Amino acid sequence: MANYIRCRGTLDIYDKQALIVNKIIEICKRVSNRFGYNYIQTPVFEQTELFTRSSGETSDIVTKEMYTFLDKGNRSITLRPEGTAGVIRAVVENKLYANRDLPLKYYYDGSFFRYERPQAGRYREFMQFGVEVIGTSSILDDVETILLIADILKELDLNDYIIKINSFGNEECMRKFRDKIKNYLISFKDELCDDCKNRLQVNPLRVLDCKVDHDFFLNKDIPTAYSCLDDKCKEDFIKVQELLKNENIPFVVDNRLVRGLDYYTGLIFEVEIKDKEGRPYTVGGGGHYSNLVKQLSGPDYACVGFGLGINRLSLLLEEKENQIITKNKSIYIMPLCDDAYLKALAIAKMLRNEDNVVVVENAKKSVSSMFRYASKNEFDFAIVLGEDELKQEKVNIKNLKTTNQDLVSYDNIVNTIRG
Ligand code: ATP
Ligand code: MG
Repeated sequence: MANYIRCRGTLDIYDKQALIVNKIIEICKRVSNRFGYNYIQTPVFEQTELFTRSSGETSDIVTKEMYTFLDKGNRSITLRPEGTAGVIRAVVENKLYANRDLPLKYYYDGSFFRYERPQAGRYREFMQFGVEVIGTSSILDDVETILLIADILKELDLNDYIIKINSFGNEECMRKFRDKIKNYLISFKDELCDDCKNRLQVNPLRVLDCKVDHDFFLNKDIPTAYSCLDDKCKEDFIKVQELLKNENIPFVVDNRLVRGLDYYTGLIFEVEIKDKEGRPYTVGGGGHYSNLVKQLSGPDYACVGFGLGINRLSLLLEEKENQIITKNKSIYIMPLCDDAYLKALAIAKMLRNEDNVVVVENAKKSVSSMFRYASKNEFDFAIVLGEDELKQEKVNIKNLKTTNQDLVSYDNIVNTIRG
């Protein structure tokens, strides 16, 4: 018989990791709701062209990382590599701006797919949580998305993070920067990796993001995007920094920062957190983008958004003793005779109404195997309900952590569990 194993770069998530992942998503959603965002869900696959247009023909995602296939109708389909394109497509297709004032604020979560070389924190199917603010050119909205991330990280108890920021300014500034970078890099052409030799021609800014040539650039005096900003864009970038400072957000200006997708203009940022060994993980990134809605046949709206990598956040939380998984009390009910079953159900209902985790033993088992089950599954309490207890209209509650035992009337069960 064949043995089935999961595909390279995919994950099975269960037990502690599952609790953490669920908690991360719950916190991301709760905090975003507080900021006035609404949930949006878009398809896991889209027409390939959506991504080639939006991410940029020359981006790593499009050239190397997409899961693209022909469906049975011979249409080219791609599993979404990122969230923004799908959300903007949905906003334009459904004219979500028709009945509402701008900006629109949406959040999403789900699986994303990139054909990458798998390693710690890098998978072929991974989870992201993201938000998009559609129809804003205010830098206050840019800042607010960073404040939203800060609130999420605070609730996750991940406080040692740094936000790296940079700004490309408007399209004119960006064009200037692109030319300047190209002129600068051309003299090192032969020392760059093969990918970058090509990038230098088609999209020079991408060279700065190259993971192969990264070290080569460390000591070089590369022109900065800031040096190409016009007065207004400089002023905006400084204002952003003032606001972040005022809100006590830990940030640095990173002149080397570029993002992997073509659509960003203006402020861009990444969130970095180090693991126990001091290895930095980029847990999220985002920025301002002003051309995408138009490019996808919508109105001329500028936007800002970010994506957080749930799996990388989960890795960092797993290695910490953390308080974010607050488990409700768990109770195992042991009906020892046929007559006890209905009473067991009534008690279970009462305790579940109080948000406890309650499992009723439905199989006929010996008392000792029931207790074995309770201890292996780490229940907090066992409630024993045998003939004696039924007669007395009471139950026996055993605290499995302290091994204290109490004979308790039905009315007192909830209070005894609460402690
Ligand atoms: P990187 O530089 O690490 O490749 P990226 O710029 O490609 O990141 P984004 O497109 O900004 O990543 O995605 C946002 C976040 O999603 C990343 O910061 C990261 O936390 C997460 N992410 C991206 N790709 C993967 C992947 N293959 N596996 C797990 N998480 C990922
Ligand atoms: Mg990448």
